[in-house]
Amino acid sequence: THFGFETVSEEEKGGKVYQVFESVAKKYDVMNDMMSLGIHRLWKDLLLWRMHPFPGTQLLDVAGGTGDIAFRFLNYIQAQHRRKQKRQLRTQQNLSWEEIAQKYQNEEDSLNGSHVVVCDINKEMLKIGRKKACAQGYKTGKSYGKCTEEKLTARKEWKIICGGGSRLAWVLGDAEELPFDDDKFDVYTIAFGIRNVTHIDRALQEAHRVLKPGGRFLCLEFSQVTNPLVSRLYDLYSFQVIPVMGEVIAKDWKSYQYLVESIRQFPAQEEFKEMIEDAGFQKVTYESLTSGIVAIHSGFKL
Ligand code: SAM
Repeated sequence: THFGFETVSEEEKGGKVYQVFESVAKKYDVMNDMMSLGIHRLWKDLLLWRMHPFPGTQLLDVAGGTGDIAFRFLNYIQAQHRRKQKRQLRTQQNLSWEEIAQKYQNEEDSLNGSHVVVCDINKEMLKIGRKKACAQGYKTGKSYGKCTEEKLTARKEWKIICGGGSRLAWVLGDAEELPFDDDKFDVYTIAFGIRNVTHIDRALQEAHRVLKPGGRFLCLEFSQVTNPLVSRLYDLYSFQVIPVMGEVIAKDWKSYQYLVESIRQFPAQEEFKEMIEDAGFQKVTYESLTSGIVAIHSGFKL
């Protein structure tokens, strides 16, 4: 198999990928913003708009790293639910805006049973995500009360308990062998993760297994650039600039060289769509973003 452009044995790849993310974990968020000029945020926002989750949705975010998708998911549901409820309260109960605001002091209410599990093979990435969860209070800037962590060692699982409710769990696990029962989740997401997996077909089969019937698979991943001019500029930027930034900011040329090379090794939109179908998903579609620099693939377990 491949580790970037290097040909390595299948056993070697997992270890090398682990080292890359162990090494970049602390600078991962900063580097993401710098390398993509912040555009990764828009791609991730779009993934959430496409998902359009409802209160009560059970999400599994595989290769979830520092939790970008998980936090967006919780914020999306809170915002959507709050908008709807506020409209209802205003029209049906004739409450004032102050009374409505009081009702929403406890943000946890608006999640209405939604839950997200972040699963990643790398404990350093998860550690950063867990710290972010406790420190930021899910981006809203509001405090959720005392934040505590509960480590369930046997299952290598951490639950973040914030303000009395657990909405977010962090689980150490391999995309190729997920530590979850069959038919458990409504949505499975994997963002910029699947190209790092040794056997993509196994990861896709696992995604299919853990989804409930009717559940949705969504993948955000680098893809093939369609416009020749964009492609040349993108190559120049990727091969000349990104490893240099990696060295200057994170003192790690090699990891960033791997990240660029792994993007080029990943199957193009149509080929990846066929792989998703081979895993048993139906109604598989994709959407290329930013001239195909990335694509969102979607499929359903029917
Ligand atoms: N999803 C996050 C995001 O979009 O910011 C993190 C993406 S990061 C580029 C890739 C992640 O994939 C890393 O956290 C890495 O540890 C994880 N990963 C690599 N191989 C994995 C595997 N076999 N199973 C689960 N996670 C894996």
